[in-house]
Amino acid sequence: MEGAVLDVDGTVLRGDRMLEGALKGTDTLRDGGVRLVFFSNNPTVTSDGLAGRLRDAGVEVGDAVPLTSATLTAVHVEENCAPPVHVTGEGAVAEALRSHGVDVTNSPSDARTAVVSVDRDLRYADLREAVDAATGADDYVCTDPDAVVPTGDGDIPGTGAVEAAVSRAAGREPLVVGKPSETAARAALDALGTSPEDTVFVGDRLDTDIALGERVGSRTALVRTGVTSDADLSSSEHRPDAVLDTLADVSDLL
Ligand SMILES: [Mg+2]
Repeated sequence: MEGAVLDVDGTVLRGDRMLEGALKGTDTLRDGGVRLVFFSNNPTVTSDGLAGRLRDAGVEVGDAVPLTSATLTAVHVEENCAPPVHVTGEGAVAEALRSHGVDVTNSPSDARTAVVSVDRDLRYADLREAVDAATGADDYVCTDPDAVVPTGDGDIPGTGAVEAAVSRAAGREPLVVGKPSETAARAALDALGTSPEDTVFVGDRLDTDIALGERVGSRTALVRTGVTSDADLSSSEHRPDAVLDTLADVSDLL
């Protein structure tokens, strides 16, 4: 194995804290010469922000590549879509676009690309702008498919919920960039520079992390430290190649 794509929340971190086994797991992979990508579907942080979150929790980032759906969306739009871009979402999405040299506009009618993401301060006027942009733009892109985001205070509406409202009104479906899209899987492999057969995808969610690895035919490992219960696992169409109590058990895969 040459590369590992590691989910963050529920796999390496829970909230601001490092999960049991995460340090041992990442050390084991590094000691085995395995390159790492930390991959979060959270579109409210940039790659730099994710690296900061990991470091603050005591996770060594080193030469691992941090990826979020905000930065992946910026890369996708830069390579495939026309500017200017209208963004509905939190600051990280526009920040990531600008840092990739992409023009961002506040005017929905000028937008040639509309990007939709979760915005925890969303107002009706923002929703209206998002619908105008999505209706008129050449390309309509969504950062990630997550309908809800788990928090310490229960599940809150995520990008998928905002996107559903915009798409319903605009009468149009977006290209969805984050996990488990093919775009996301390829981006992770590109960041590692490894082939699918030499890469393992590790995470706590069957429908995103495990589906992501399955998309490119890589090995997959589910960790039990996050959201997936044994009942979820036995009733799922997704079949991870390994089930690990914590990330520390990734040593079994080397
Ligand atoms: Mg997770």
